[in-house]
Amino acid sequence: MNAHERLDAPSPAARVATGPQADPALLTPRFPVVTIMGHVDHGKTTLLDKFRKTQVAAMEVGGITQHIGAFLVSLPSGEKITFLDTPGHAAFSAMRARGAQVTDIVVLVVAADDGVMKQTVESIQHAKEAQVPIVLAINKCDRTDADPEKVKKELLAYDVICEDYGGDVQAVHVSALTGDNLMALAEATIALAEMLELKADPTGPVEGTVIESFTDKGRGPVTTAIIQRGTLRKGSILVAGKSWAKVRLMFDENGKPLNEAYPSMPVGIIGWRDLPSAGDEILEVESEPRAREVVDWRKIEQKEEKGKDDLKIMEEKRKEHQEAYQKARAKYGSLHWKKRSYMKYLERKEQRPVKPKEKAEKDSNVLPIIIKGDVDGSVEAILNLLDTYDAPHECELQLVHFGLGDISENDVNFAETFDGVIYGFNVDAGKAIQQSAAQKGVKIKLHKIIYHLIEDLQEELSSRLPHRL
Ligand code: GDP
Repeated sequence: MNAHERLDAPSPAARVATGPQADPALLTPRFPVVTIMGHVDHGKTTLLDKFRKTQVAAMEVGGITQHIGAFLVSLPSGEKITFLDTPGHAAFSAMRARGAQVTDIVVLVVAADDGVMKQTVESIQHAKEAQVPIVLAINKCDRTDADPEKVKKELLAYDVICEDYGGDVQAVHVSALTGDNLMALAEATIALAEMLELKADPTGPVEGTVIESFTDKGRGPVTTAIIQRGTLRKGSILVAGKSWAKVRLMFDENGKPLNEAYPSMPVGIIGWRDLPSAGDEILEVESEPRAREVVDWRKIEQKEEKGKDDLKIMEEKRKEHQEAYQKARAKYGSLHWKKRSYMKYLERKEQRPVKPKEKAEKDSNVLPIIIKGDVDGSVEAILNLLDTYDAPHECELQLVHFGLGDISENDVNFAETFDGVIYGFNVDAGKAIQQSAAQKGVKIKLHKIIYHLIEDLQEELSSRLPHRL
């Protein structure tokens, strides 16, 4: 599925034929997009600055260069390289985490005086995971203590094998500080790019990736993008993430307006309605209504995803409570038996109204209780506390019923049958229920703090203890 097909995939509303698959015959060579990686202080920033400055000098462009996240270097040979100018693997990983694969080649900078360090190894791992080939820049070779051979040897342990050692990794001895051999490094990068046969289709709907995005006071949301397919022009309609743009203005790293941007070119884009995020895929669509439709759909989809997440959480919570409830039921298994005997009692009662004196014989050593709570969690907490009550020889706690919700007539009937007490936690007992309970001599005790409920219960228990002489 190509990027434009993915655009259509989620949305029936958006399932309109967009750009055709890239025709292999239309693929033309493109220049490489390079990320500079390596250990801190090994010279990444200096190297980038040097490349940028060569470029500014070569183009004879005065003024301030703009930081747009990437810049293009034209070599004397006419070849070009795009450098992503956020050094370090954090940016690289952040883009990768969003599924964006923009980098074709990693220039691994290792200081010749320092050798392989922690972030050198991490950079190698990142490049390998992303299956991006490496060109080695052994930096600070101007230093007297520089030992480039040691660097190459150390790298063998990480499966980065330089050509001298029979591998295919080109190593260039450079000095970012003096600018020595930087062109050789650029040429090595171009040579690798040629081997990779990097190609793209400059026709068809534009595809690209957001490198950076920020809000400019005067110009609103601005993004820098690397174009990966098609040719971007003013007036193109783009979508990226949950934003869309009618391209009002395009500019390069020198702030110079551009009329067109081809594959591998970094470009600043103005005209976004909202701010897309770095790593977002940019796709061209045929019209503004279409862009709105896609963006609206993505927003709905995101809400649905969130809704699904909420439902999942609720379902998990429900399951959790149910399990706790089942556990409690298993623990108080006799309840079922008691319920059955109560049903029998009701049956009998229907046949022949029960008079108070026919009630189950009172046993002063037993306190039958009914627990009602607002949620499973609170009921379970109370049941767990009851479980810790261990003075059966003095007065036995008998849980005859427990459940959720306000005190009901049913609860009152249970209590009456077993001569029990109803304990409610965070629940109510309506007026009619209270009257009925009073008539039947049933105590209803309502609490909002579990410990108060337990204390109350303990008092009730001791009041039922046989009075000893
Ligand atoms: P980064 O953390 O990898 O971006 O490293 P920097 O580019 O900030 O460089 C760290 C330090 O090393 C700075 O003081 C630079 O001036 C110095 N440095 C960078 N490249 C070279 C070089 O080729 N030779 C020497 N001698 N110093 C360098």
